[in-house]
Amino acid sequence: MTARTPDRTAPMEGVALLVIPRLGTLSERQVRGITCVWDAALLTPCNAVSLGPRRASRAGERVTWYPRGCRSCVAVAALMRLTIHVRACPNCQREDGDPCDTGRVLNQLFREYPR
Ligand SMILES: [Zn+2]
Ligand SMILES: [Zn+2]
Repeated sequence: MTARTPDRTAPMEGVALLVIPRLGTLSERQVRGITCVWDAALLTPCNAVSLGPRRASRAGERVTWYPRGCRSCVAVAALMRLTIHVRACPNCQREDGDPCDTGRVLNQLFREYPR
């Protein structure tokens, strides 16, 4: 991340920060983006969130895959990631200060997908 990106791209930037389960622990349907990577809920055009391309190794080969999650899991994952981040980020701990870019995009992502 170099230049500041406009706010509207923040959710996409945010999803790249989310921690998703390891490829090897997922079912074929989760790997193919048919069901949510976190809770295996069936995804529809209304509730699916693309989590961006991810690199992994599978059966000894480097692969790129495109995990998807449902909205409520994305919100939970964003909040968890934000909590972990804030603990380690002096910027985001200051109540009177501005959050850093990471804190900002995670916050936006969390608010983008209310439960
Ligand atoms: Zn889910
Ligand atoms: Zn921060």
